[in-house]
Amino acid sequence: MSQCRGYAAKSATTPLESFVFERREVGPKDVQIEISYCGICHSDIHSARNEWGSAVYPMVPGHEIVGLVKEVGKDVKKFKEGDFAGVGCLVDSCRKCESCSQGLEQFCAGPATFTYNSIGRDGQTTQGGYSSHIVVDQDFVLKIASGLPMERVAPLLCAGITTYSPLKRFKVGPHSRVGVLGLGGLGHMAVKIAKAMGAEVFVLSHSPSKKPDAKRLGADDFVLLSDANAASKMAGHLNFIIDTVSAKHDLNSALGMLKLDGALVLVGASPVPLEVSAFPLIMGRRTLAGSLIGGLSETQEMLDFCAKHKVLADVEVIKIQDVNRAYERMMKQDVRYRFSIDLKTLV
Ligand code: NAP
Ligand code: ZN
Ligand code: ZN
Repeated sequence: MSQCRGYAAKSATTPLESFVFERREVGPKDVQIEISYCGICHSDIHSARNEWGSAVYPMVPGHEIVGLVKEVGKDVKKFKEGDFAGVGCLVDSCRKCESCSQGLEQFCAGPATFTYNSIGRDGQTTQGGYSSHIVVDQDFVLKIASGLPMERVAPLLCAGITTYSPLKRFKVGPHSRVGVLGLGGLGHMAVKIAKAMGAEVFVLSHSPSKKPDAKRLGADDFVLLSDANAASKMAGHLNFIIDTVSAKHDLNSALGMLKLDGALVLVGASPVPLEVSAFPLIMGRRTLAGSLIGGLSETQEMLDFCAKHKVLADVEVIKIQDVNRAYERMMKQDVRYRFSIDLKTLV
């Protein structure tokens, strides 16, 4: 066992605080990564505050992890000491079930082992990336090209793959008009990735202050959802919407913005149920779908795609001591557009 320093939630209602815990020894197939940066995903807040009802404490959140390989097990061929490496939302799966054999480890029947708040093969609760280091099976470690700003790569490990996967599945390309609903961490990655795929991109936002950013991030247009006139002009206009909103919101007016046979994919995970009316769906033969992160090979594909197209997250780097303030700011939509924790500040 090795001693690991981190920041943990000890209950749903108390701030995250300094926490020392044990990580397993590096096994034959394991990679030990010294964590450089970890992004803050809104799922970290939902989880730490038990908004989805499955929290186990103490909980060290964080699943947008990048760092340097410090040690590898004797059977590890993929990595060597000094390589850049990344870990996203998954750290293990059964590798045998139908989903695993299709490279969809996130849907493992096993079930999959998530990076934190999940039970690992050793029976221990997994702990995430707001910490000094992590030990992960090589099959769940991603290769990161060297020479990239690591603080801006970290958010790709969740926000990047969660938006890339459905954009790819729904064949977004130069012929597509894409709506990005909610301009936060996931939303800003969706804008950049959909643009890199060649689509025309419309930001659909509740925040007037984000209009200049939408254009700067590459969007072709910005629609303020509270502006009834602007929103009504979008009726029947879009092929595809990726909905990244983290709280209860109006799905029906967004569905009405889709063309015939258009699809809205929900990736935002509101803890409160959303209401869907039959008519916006049946009238335009529209599809309402969901998506969960992406499998390992698709995550590597996304990292390579982002490196090729120079797609990186816009981040505000923070000290670990400021994590609770960052959570509060995210709840007020005051993040442009991802907080990236510098783990060197963990002392
Ligand atoms: P974020 O950075 O906090 O952004 C969420 C955005 O949603 C905000 O910027 C805001 O955009 C909008 N929003 C927030 N509260 C709202 C409210 N009360 N009413 C209307 N709009 C509101 O969060 P994130 O990290 O991008 O995560 C977004 C969601 O995706 C979370 O629920 C997270 O758990 C989920 N998620 C899912 C997956 C998956 O695999 N499916 C993976 C990662 C995250 P505007 O100001 O532009 O309206
Ligand atoms: Zn996430
Ligand atoms: Zn499986």
